[in-house]
Amino acid sequence: EGISVGELAQKMNRNASDIIKLLFMLGKMVTINSSMDDETIELVCMEYGVEVKKEIPVDEDSLEDEVEENPEDLVQRPAIVTIMGHVDHGKTTLLDTIRKTRVVEGEFGGITQHIGAYQVSVQSKKITFLDTPGHEAFTAMRARGAKVTDICIIVVAADDGVMPQTKEAVDHAKAADVPIIVAVNKMDKPAANPERVMNEMSDLGLLPEEWGGDTIFVKCSAKQGEGVQDILETIQVVAEMRELKANPKRNATGTVIEAKLDKGRGPVVTLLVQNGTLHTGDCIVVGACFGKVRKMTDDRGREIKEAKPSTPVEIIGLNDVPVAGDMFKVFDSEKQARAIAERRSQTKIEQERKSSSAMSLDDLARQIEAGEVQEIPVIVKADVQGSAEAVKSSLEKLDVKGVRVNVIRSTAGTISESDVMLASASKAMIYGFNVRPDANVRKKAEEEGVEIRLHNIIYKAMEEMELAMKGLLAPVF
Ligand code: GDP
Repeated sequence: EGISVGELAQKMNRNASDIIKLLFMLGKMVTINSSMDDETIELVCMEYGVEVKKEIPVDEDSLEDEVEENPEDLVQRPAIVTIMGHVDHGKTTLLDTIRKTRVVEGEFGGITQHIGAYQVSVQSKKITFLDTPGHEAFTAMRARGAKVTDICIIVVAADDGVMPQTKEAVDHAKAADVPIIVAVNKMDKPAANPERVMNEMSDLGLLPEEWGGDTIFVKCSAKQGEGVQDILETIQVVAEMRELKANPKRNATGTVIEAKLDKGRGPVVTLLVQNGTLHTGDCIVVGACFGKVRKMTDDRGREIKEAKPSTPVEIIGLNDVPVAGDMFKVFDSEKQARAIAERRSQTKIEQERKSSSAMSLDDLARQIEAGEVQEIPVIVKADVQGSAEAVKSSLEKLDVKGVRVNVIRSTAGTISESDVMLASASKAMIYGFNVRPDANVRKKAEEEGVEIRLHNIIYKAMEEMELAMKGLLAPVF
């Protein structure tokens, strides 16, 4: 990055020696080969009255789906749904019941194998379910920049009520800005108390429709099957409002759901096609791997020739095993795919996996100065709930230059890996009050590039945040 003094001189039709002299007068010692940072370039241009235009580099090797679509090519695509909730509240049972019911209702072939996602038809429209319940998988993907969920079902057992992981699931879904449907499960149990679930969920900001809010609650028994049809129909209603669209005429792009090495078949990878249509024979780059789609099977183990948007498929034909959350893209020739995969070296992939993650207070101050940030996502952890609340409301009151703090989670307790993953996925930072992360959590935060700020005094933290918001933060040593 950056250009040298010589290159800049050439672009400006000046003598390099003039620029060197100018910079010398401004207190900077440079040679013709010195590379210049943005600030210095701006300085020189200002002196000469030249306008600076920064070229935004086009990353030809990116697998991101960035093509502008012609609205005429867009068609409806199935919703992609993730099921989250506290352990033992019935996530797996619900996924199994949905799978079985739909098969009984006349769909050909059973879903016999687990490929990480499956599709069912409801009212002659499909829905795609991600088959790994829980927010860990959801957040790990999101931390890698993958967006693979349109709707979240949060399962709450009616005999148990809102539990810690229910809260986490709500935080994760909200942070991802994904609409939530609450499944009030285990209604067959004598101890079931749906009112309590609705009350407790309201406390988390999810007010039921029948109480004047806008969250849909569906009572069900995942085990006995009651209410499951209602859940499916509700998904279709929410999906319709979302107007989920994709262009099936394009080269396919999407995300890796699962990947493993099979002794006989080589790398076996489940892809979720998110845009375009994937065909057998397509030349494909997946993360840093590449190949030709040699064989493609659907969630029932049937061989298929093409897969439309929102379809999960298992493919073979890659040269190596990618990671869940990696993006994929189809290219026109195998040569091109190979070249791009080769240029997408491991370091680049690592960078990509990191770039979507977390932000430090320093970055923030810089980005605010540049007008790039309007909202600062923060997670607050404190020794007692009272302080967590106090910190949250003080932070949210700060308003500098139209920049605001958005506290996406504030709870009592030590800083956990789940906090770090949420921060990573939401580009948030973590504020700890009278709590310390343990060594594992610190390590995880370092890996994910998540900044943890520890404080004992609230006003000190406010002061620091306010300075950052003003773009005035002094560097930390
Ligand atoms: P997960 O940890 O959220 O995936 O929960 P599971 O689906 O594994 O369910 C935990 C336990 O609750 C299992 O023993 C299920 O059989 C039971 N369970 C799940 N749904 C229901 C339900 O609707 N009614 C009753 N009575 N039990 C259920």
